[in-house]
Amino acid sequence: LQKNPLTYEGGGAVLKDGTRMQLLANIGNAKDAEKAAAANADGVGLFRTEFLFLDREDEPSVEEQTAAYRDVFAHFPGKKVVVRTIDAGADKPLPFLTDADEPNPALGVRAYRTSWEKPQVLAHQLDAIAAAAAQTEAKPWVMAPMIATLEETEDVVAQCRERGLDPAGIMVETPAAALTADRLLGSAAFASIGTNDLTQYTMAADRQLGSLAHLNDPWQPAVLALVQATARGARIAGGDAEAYGESANRPVGVCGEAAGDPALAVVLVGLGVNSLSMTPRSLPAVATVLASVSLEEAKALAAAAVAAPTAAAAKDAVRAGLPILE
Ligand code: PEP
Ligand code: MG
Repeated sequence: LQKNPLTYEGGGAVLKDGTRMQLLANIGNAKDAEKAAAANADGVGLFRTEFLFLDREDEPSVEEQTAAYRDVFAHFPGKKVVVRTIDAGADKPLPFLTDADEPNPALGVRAYRTSWEKPQVLAHQLDAIAAAAAQTEAKPWVMAPMIATLEETEDVVAQCRERGLDPAGIMVETPAAALTADRLLGSAAFASIGTNDLTQYTMAADRQLGSLAHLNDPWQPAVLALVQATARGARIAGGDAEAYGESANRPVGVCGEAAGDPALAVVLVGLGVNSLSMTPRSLPAVATVLASVSLEEAKALAAAAVAAPTAAAAKDAVRAGLPILE
């Protein structure tokens, strides 16, 4: 795989049987969006909006936010751009939004939860996204991070609908959301699995601690089981519980680092996700490895990975089935 220079042409990775898989980019600003477009990403699967504001003492105005979103949208006319509402707290503190003195910031009032005490910040952000969408030809898909319950999901969806922002979705980053995805996706139109946080919360291992890296591994069988549960929940929510293998009626993407690992990407596709979002430089390798399998083969490898006793055994089983990685 390393020997040949790889490229990604766009239009989706094409599996051996012709199945197409949307490959999207993770970005944090307009410069990233430009690079993602140059790398032929099919759109944006994760726009980390908080990166626009990390060094700010005060909330940026609606006008300033509108301009920032518009600059990003302009690179993907007519394409899907998944905009994540501000994910502040824990590893991304924001002075105007989060409390620096919480004893357990990763388990605290972070991300969507900040809107309970300061609803105006989320409201202003949604106003700005709607205004930017109206000024461009982008199709923003708005989603909220760190969702754990149906009430939270319904609140986000309602706030998006009020502004004509459709579809509205959620990130699956908590085991709670993964295990109740069938209900959450009765309200939300799509989900995106954030495997970085889902792994941290599943394994109860701080993602910022290098000493816990062996636990913070998305190959862990418990994490793969929760990805599988999420994809299954999406099929149930879409009224398609039995037809395993058909694309889920509610789109489920993966936007954590796992999506950019070619072998793991095969597993994620086999588990039933509909799109993968990654740093643009990972697009060619992921597309190349996906092209080496059929959907049926990906499903078989995914089943082997989920059934493996350990993360190491899961990796070995999948790599053994992917000769292209040798
Ligand atoms: C994730 O948690 O997997 C994710 C994509 O979001 P972030 O890394 O920004 O928390
Ligand atoms: Mg996250």
